[in-house]
Amino acid sequence: MSTIFDKIISREIAADIVYEDQLILAFKDIAPKAPVHYLIIPKQPIATLNDTTLEHQALLGHMMLTAAQLAKEAGIAQGGYRVQMNCNADGGQVVYHIHLHMMGGRAFSA
Ligand code: AMP
Repeated sequence: MSTIFDKIISREIAADIVYEDQLILAFKDIAPKAPVHYLIIPKQPIATLNDTTLEHQALLGHMMLTAAQLAKEAGIAQGGYRVQMNCNADGGQVVYHIHLHMMGGRAFSA
């Protein structure tokens, strides 16, 4: 099923894109929960973390490494940041196209 993130990938709707390569896209969250709040998504539509398999291992690693790189470039790596992926309703997932939240620039408690 198509999601709003597919429309961002295809440029049907605008987003503030901070990184792109053949496999993934990263852009600013429209409702940021921290001074820096990026979403890192694969270009291929995978609905939830439950739908990933060994086939996606390198892709998931690439998303994590990109989150760390973008945190460095945003100047928040030293202070620290949070990387989070929500899965399904109880996990708070709203958009069913997997995405990593990379958030920082403020202190998080628990
Ligand atoms: P989740 O609850 O993990 O599914 O997170 C979905 C995230 O997507 C939320 O933090 C939203 O603010 C964000 N979001 C939804 N629509 C857009 C959009 N058009 N551009 C950027 N971020 C969006």
